[in-house]
Amino acid sequence: MGDYYERIVDVEATLEEAGRLAERMVDWLVSEGVITRELSDDGVFSHPVTEGYVRGPNWARAVADSSNPDWLPRPVAVVVGRDYHVAGQGADEAQYAVCPRCQAKTVVINYPYEFERDDKVWQPFKDGIAAWKKTGEGSAPCPACGESAPITEWQWAPGFALGALAFDFWDWPELSDEFCTAFSEQLGHGIAQLGGKV
Ligand SMILES: [Zn+2]
Repeated sequence: MGDYYERIVDVEATLEEAGRLAERMVDWLVSEGVITRELSDDGVFSHPVTEGYVRGPNWARAVADSSNPDWLPRPVAVVVGRDYHVAGQGADEAQYAVCPRCQAKTVVINYPYEFERDDKVWQPFKDGIAAWKKTGEGSAPCPACGESAPITEWQWAPGFALGALAFDFWDWPELSDEFCTAFSEQLGHGIAQLGGKV
């Protein structure tokens, strides 16, 4: 049994609004029958959250393919707190970042020539993210234009996202595009989707 999760990150919510939004989204998911209000810790590893909402009678509405009768999804955990989110295992940086001021791309890992990040390039982003996690504000300077921009305004390579609200679907078949679009609309915010294994 793989402990696989698909994570939806709200990339716009502030920590101050995250709790209220989380409640609203749980209400919506319950009303759609995707989850119930019952909590379970079965197969949930969303540190520091240890419990999630058990799948509802209409869980199949959320996924692209529910044809495997043996594949029953585990709970959906809701995680509130400013953090960076990374797809996969092991990595904790973005492959690149795009400046919101000049649109220049700063390459952190120069795939396919290199597989390790350039620490000197990543450090200012790492510092900005650490400050944001702590205080809600952090920025990083752009090597191309020299301007500094809030860390939450930089655009990241796929597989990396910052946010204060995340939803972990544990062992669910791939979520459908329609569901993710509806999810984002319901949230009123942009989302990033990341997959990973623990
Ligand atoms: Zn720039």
